[in-house]
Amino acid sequence: MLIDGHGRKVDYLRVSVTERCNFRCQYCMPEKPFSWVPHEKLLSYEDMFEFIKVAIDEGVTKVRLTGGEPLLRHGLENFVKMIADYSPTLDLALTTNAFLLEEAAQKLKDAGLKRINVSLDSLKPEVAHHIAQKDVLGKVLAGIQKASEVGLKVKVNCVPMKDINDGELIDILEFCKEKGYEVRFIEFMENSHASVKKGLNSAQIQEIIKSKYNFTKNEREGNSPSQSYELEDGYKFGIIEPHLDDFCSDCNRLRITAEGYLIPCLYFEDALSIADAIKAKDIDSAKEILRKVLQDKPEKNKWGSEDQSDRAFYETGG
Ligand code: SAM
Ligand code: SF4
Repeated sequence: MLIDGHGRKVDYLRVSVTERCNFRCQYCMPEKPFSWVPHEKLLSYEDMFEFIKVAIDEGVTKVRLTGGEPLLRHGLENFVKMIADYSPTLDLALTTNAFLLEEAAQKLKDAGLKRINVSLDSLKPEVAHHIAQKDVLGKVLAGIQKASEVGLKVKVNCVPMKDINDGELIDILEFCKEKGYEVRFIEFMENSHASVKKGLNSAQIQEIIKSKYNFTKNEREGNSPSQSYELEDGYKFGIIEPHLDDFCSDCNRLRITAEGYLIPCLYFEDALSIADAIKAKDIDSAKEILRKVLQDKPEKNKWGSEDQSDRAFYETGG
């Protein structure tokens, strides 16, 4: 079992397979970064798999593949299959912008993927275009629809932004309700890479939804960072409320970047690389690095503090 320095059980690994992206979302990567990690520095799928096996053997029960845009990395379905075959009971999920999903969904499902989280910030083509800086909505909706049709459980992530998509939150909620997807509104997390200046906080999001629906607040489910709310007809939606940071106390997650850095917390600068150990097939050293990173996992996120990391969301995988 993996226990961090504050006694928290860590059983959730987020794996970024690339920092590259085909969108330029204004809250994440408005400009193409000055330089990408060169391809030769990325961990191969085989190397990542070696580490994921260690993590699973040590007690990880949930793995999420993310990025950048994970569907940009060639052969993702083969990677999914390696992991799913190793641990068929693993909760294996993907977070994607859905642009390439229509083509990939069936292959991912056949390979053993169970769940998918997609980003959907607007249902208006011109607003979606404005946010992603590309004409994306048609392909995104087709991708989401296909994922659902092939039997992947779909959750929708939406980042509400002031004067951009805040007039659409009810439409997005109703779209998801009708389709049977859970929607989670994510409070915009300010960071130096974003060009967006203002997001909506949880209270503002709730205020908008209250203008049409009565809802109640549910008990927080397990280690989820999402606070669940329930409409009178039983439909559940979530709000991810990092500004409250009360989910740090039972945080169960660890992140690995595409080049092999283990990151114990968003906005935490200190990270150790398992790349050399894994490439040398030195599993004992990789385990030691993993334990050290967990030992140093901060009790609370460093967001807003002086030593906050400037690492971008597209590097850590969100
Ligand atoms: N490209 C994929 C996607 O967009 O779903 C996966 C990577 S993306 C970094 C993962 C999640 O991070 C997305 O749901 C996105 O909305 C969220 N995200 C990115 N920047 C954010 C920010 N500044 N505040 C809140 N959420 C953010
Ligand atoms: Fe790309 Fe996802 Fe970041 Fe948008 S949120 S720029 S889709 S990594």
